[in-house]
Amino acid sequence: MRKFRDVPIRTKLMLIMGMTAGIALLLAISAMVVNEYTSTRHTVAEELSSLADVVAWNSAAALAFNDTNAARETLTALKTRPGIVSAFLYDKEGHVFSKYMAGKANPETTRGISDLRSQVSTLSEDKEVIQYDQGGHLHLLRPVVLDNEPIGVIHLVDDLRKLNDRLYSYYLIVALIVSLTLVVVILLSSRLQRVFSIPVQKLLQAMKSVSLSKDYSTRVKRSSNDEFGALADGFNQMLSEIHQRDEQLADQRQHLEQQVAERTAELFEKNQELKNAIAEAMDAKEVAESASRAKSEFLAVMSHEIRTPMNGVLGMTELLLDTELSDRQRRFAQTILHSGDSLLEIINEVLDFSKIEAGKLVLETHNFNMRDLVEETAGMLAERAHSKGLELTPVLPIDFPMELKGDSNRLRQILVNLLGNAIKFTDRGEVVVRVDVLTKTGNEVSLRFEVTDTGIGIAPEIQAGIFDAFSQAEGSTTRKYGGTGLGLAISRRLVDLMGGEMGVESKPGKGSTFWFTVSLTRQTGKKHHGLPLPDYLRGMRVLIVDDNATNREILYNQVTAWGMQSISAENGAQAFEMLRTAAMKGKTYDIVLLDWHMPGMDGIELARRLSVDPLIPEMRLVMLSSAGLDEEAEKAAVVGIHRYLNKPVRQSELYDCLVEIISASVEGQILQSNGVRTEGAKAVFEAYILLAEDNPVNQMVALEMLELMGCRVDVAENGREAVEAISRTAFDLVLMDCHMPEMNGFAAAAKIREHEQAGDNGQRVPIIALTADVQKGVQDQCRAAGMDDYLGKPFNQDQLQAVLLRWLDRHGEFDRAKAMEHSAGLDKHKETEPLLEQHALDKIRALQRPDKPNILGKIIRLYLENSSGLITSVRKSVKQGDGVALCDAAHSLKSSSANLGAIQLAAVCKELEDMGRERRTDGTRVLMDRIESEYQSARAALVGELENISNA
Ligand code: ADP
Repeated sequence: MRKFRDVPIRTKLMLIMGMTAGIALLLAISAMVVNEYTSTRHTVAEELSSLADVVAWNSAAALAFNDTNAARETLTALKTRPGIVSAFLYDKEGHVFSKYMAGKANPETTRGISDLRSQVSTLSEDKEVIQYDQGGHLHLLRPVVLDNEPIGVIHLVDDLRKLNDRLYSYYLIVALIVSLTLVVVILLSSRLQRVFSIPVQKLLQAMKSVSLSKDYSTRVKRSSNDEFGALADGFNQMLSEIHQRDEQLADQRQHLEQQVAERTAELFEKNQELKNAIAEAMDAKEVAESASRAKSEFLAVMSHEIRTPMNGVLGMTELLLDTELSDRQRRFAQTILHSGDSLLEIINEVLDFSKIEAGKLVLETHNFNMRDLVEETAGMLAERAHSKGLELTPVLPIDFPMELKGDSNRLRQILVNLLGNAIKFTDRGEVVVRVDVLTKTGNEVSLRFEVTDTGIGIAPEIQAGIFDAFSQAEGSTTRKYGGTGLGLAISRRLVDLMGGEMGVESKPGKGSTFWFTVSLTRQTGKKHHGLPLPDYLRGMRVLIVDDNATNREILYNQVTAWGMQSISAENGAQAFEMLRTAAMKGKTYDIVLLDWHMPGMDGIELARRLSVDPLIPEMRLVMLSSAGLDEEAEKAAVVGIHRYLNKPVRQSELYDCLVEIISASVEGQILQSNGVRTEGAKAVFEAYILLAEDNPVNQMVALEMLELMGCRVDVAENGREAVEAISRTAFDLVLMDCHMPEMNGFAAAAKIREHEQAGDNGQRVPIIALTADVQKGVQDQCRAAGMDDYLGKPFNQDQLQAVLLRWLDRHGEFDRAKAMEHSAGLDKHKETEPLLEQHALDKIRALQRPDKPNILGKIIRLYLENSSGLITSVRKSVKQGDGVALCDAAHSLKSSSANLGAIQLAAVCKELEDMGRERRTDGTRVLMDRIESEYQSARAALVGELENISNA
């Protein structure tokens, strides 16, 4: 069913009017009907009462005279009255005296009157009872009075027919009136609703047409001045505003379209300009790239061009220095060599910088030992520091993770630069290089390096700028100290490449600390390898005497880590007093580590006083000096110093020294430390070498160097000649210049490898590339062409010798024994040498104290127990190609063998140790054979010695 609110207004209006009229009519009619009903009933009752009056009056005589007939007649007369259904006449006692029934007696008319009857006797003279029964009949009881005395009661029963008839006709008229009225109302309302609905309809139609046609110029006609008129006005007003806005919008749209068109045109223009600019930029990029390529190529060519004549200058000067020269000529030649080295250093710096700037510098990753790196670098620069009277000290934590992976060459370059600067800008005091672990996560170690000096310092305002290329703290620095101003710039960029940071803290006049951080990887499967601890170092008492606190700290940390007990003194006088006091208390020291140069009483004076003081027992004295002079060593020997070591002392060196002096009795003999290089120890090779080199100067330099090392040399002027020569003759090794006319070195090497593969004798000649080209990728290019190694020009004799050792040894052509004989200037044959050097055994025997077990026997047994394990380690590390492990094992075997006089075994161990340190484990086969046989012989000799001891 539709809801009322949804029906059309027209219907609503009609319903409202119709219902209003209907309800009003209904109320009025209802009031009238009720009124009519009650008044009609009243009238009927009154009429019945009047009738009862008449009947009572007529029946009085009959009742008085007990005349029932008369009474019946009277009652029968009621027949004329329609509506009276029965009538009863009661006597005084209430008994029916007479009765009348119209038609058949109706039980309904008598039901319910028994209670009325009971009232008959009580009715007084003028009282009457009117009552309706349940059947809707009207009962009237009235007393019959005679002479003012009630003598009976008349009871009339009316069926109300009259009443109903009258009401019926009345209702009929009312219904007629209501119907007529409703018809009139509906007709009227359907007419009247138009007054409201027509204006609304019109408005609605206008809205529909506007919304369909979107024609906002349409207007609704105002038909009256009432609210509908106002509504039409409002609607028209709204339409006119919309119309106005529409027009404005259309205007604006037109304007906007115009603007868009203009902007699009502008954009198009700009786009065109941008395209042109991009094209120009691309052109410029092309130009820049080709310029950068040209720069790189130029650098390559320049490096080649500069290094080639430098090769001539340096090589020839080295050769010249090997000839007979007057002192003056030697000085000149040494100056040339020194200046050439400096020039080469500068060229290298400039080239390095250019490479970094061009993004061509690529870091390498290889295994290295951090302690070796730092100690070697400090050792390299020690002479420079000591010549200025400076202490140079490396400080590394004892438990440092040493076996690392990274670009050790570049790290060394940074350290050399920082240490070089520190030494250069410091006149008094010390330079300390410190390495600390910042963080350790998994295999990653983050390290902080610090190089601290006590030099001139740097003013705060210039500190930031010194890392820029070509910048020096002040103009006068260049004049006073020299330098290119590139070192720090290169170092910082290298540190950047390694993912670290670099900075400086400095106070003018106080000194500077240059620091940098780098992250490196630990070698997998490698534990920190400390030095093996022989039991006889444990518990030894050491006195450290040094005025430099840093040195005291380092030495203290080192010796205590080896289980020794240590105390320190700041100067000679203090140390002397400490030793005297100890002696008086019966305490002794086993070793004194003495610094030579101390204010007041220096090391040599202290040693002299100790040697002459009768109270102080003999101790083993180790002198540490920064001078490294032969004269000093001799002077030290005179005052009873047992060992003379150059500063900075490497941890392994100090360790060896302590082990040696503890296990040997030494009498004033001074051995030079490992740090001092023996001159003239050139290797001799019986090798046949092909030198392919077009440059006559380089040819001559290489030829001279090779011949000096005992090689037979054929020269090829270019690659083609080299290939031909190889096809004719079997060479042991080829030195191949990369850049040669006709056929370059790469092509020649590739050809040689091709021929070798085609041939069936399985020979493969080692080819070493010679090039002054420092461009990235040259090494890969060499390898790709089938070359085995790479020697950068200019090279010196040591570098050439190292390469020959590497490759001729591998090739089985190098007679190392012969080389050793040659370098020692001996022509004694190996077989004539004793297996054990008795002098070494005597030194141990001299340590024998009375009532103690035989010390030599003890040490030999210890050696026999440990050495077979070491031989196994050497064998294993050779097999696994593990250079570090080889270095450790060979080092350990070397020092213990040397202590027991097995010097031939020690010599082979030393060679293996060197190879391990340089991470060369291949080419060790020949040495392995020798070490095995030397070891067996030494072992047999020592067992013999042991038998002699037990037989004695
Ligand atoms: P240079 O080749 O001139 O030494 P560097 O880049 O290595 O070039 O150093 C730049 C400048 O920084 C130096 O010229 C010097 O002025 C200053 N400098 C570097 N190290 C130190 C230092 N340890 N003490 C004082 N000044 C230093």
